[in-house]
Amino acid sequence: MIENKIIDGRAFALQLRERVANQVSRLRLEKNIIPGLAVILVGEDPASEVYVRSKGKQTTEAGMKSLEHKLSDTISEKDLLSLIIKLNKDTEVNGILVQLPLPKHINEEKVLATISPEKDVDGFHILNVGRLWTGSNSLVPCTPFGCFLLLKDQLGDLSGKRAVIIGRSNIVGKPMAALLLSESCTVTIAHSKTIDLENRCKEADILIAAVGKPLMVKASWIKPGATVIDVGINRIPAPERGIGKTRLVGDVDFENGQNIAGAITPVPGGVGPMTIACLLRNTLIATFRQFRLDAPDI
Ligand code: NDP
Repeated sequence: MIENKIIDGRAFALQLRERVANQVSRLRLEKNIIPGLAVILVGEDPASEVYVRSKGKQTTEAGMKSLEHKLSDTISEKDLLSLIIKLNKDTEVNGILVQLPLPKHINEEKVLATISPEKDVDGFHILNVGRLWTGSNSLVPCTPFGCFLLLKDQLGDLSGKRAVIIGRSNIVGKPMAALLLSESCTVTIAHSKTIDLENRCKEADILIAAVGKPLMVKASWIKPGATVIDVGINRIPAPERGIGKTRLVGDVDFENGQNIAGAITPVPGGVGPMTIACLLRNTLIATFRQFRLDAPDI
């Protein structure tokens, strides 16, 4: 009989944030260093505002400095790049994050390339991408790293496991593949042109869904006993909760899937909370490296 398990991302993220906070307090006491995270938000997208507020709160709770830069959506690309260059030079700032998406008139690629790779706590700079794929010390994108930590906690040794990742974005799918490859998984990256996705999924010991399509992965696609990580966050109508009400679901049919998977993340409460926890971890690691200190393995 397969023992089912729901992976509690909230509890894991809380523990990770506590470990980060302990290291921050050690840095402060022993070296008089307080890590600083600068977050730049351009425009007034309500979802981004909520997310940035949450990042600021958790950064402060971990004992770090949170420096928010809220900019009008009419800011020129030149002015935004100037701010990033200023933050690159600011010794009080150890991590820089530009909240995406950016307004159309700003070139996202240029913005990400301007952030100092050593302060690139989102891990989107091309140098960090290259370092990740070539196995040298990089700052790794937060969401896939969060998934990776959950998988390691759940399964321990990942070597030889068949992993299928649905989604090939630069922020989730591709870095996820690099991380699993580095652990000697046999990795398949599926996408919208993949033929026979259902059977590819059925082969997976580790199935990661990062698509953005509500409940796309059916329970019958899950190999019995597989570990399923659902990255998708989708809002769908929930008339059972009242007129006009909505609820969040993932890309996987969790209700039925939990009876087949060996372990599975729920939405909400799975991968979501790991993203900010990993952002704090990256800021801590970046700070250690900038001061030429040995970064803790957390
Ligand atoms: P993108 O839209 O950038 O990528 C989606 C991927 O899904 C693409 O590679 C696309 O393929 C693939 N895809 C689309 N339709 C299908 C299909 N029918 N079958 C197979 N593959 C398909 O999304 P992101 O990677 O940015 O995000 C994915 C999901 O994860 C979203 O729901 C997002 O909200 C969520 N997310 C959650 C985070 C968290 O903190 N938990 C953080 C980041 C994202 P193709 O390349 O061929 O178009």
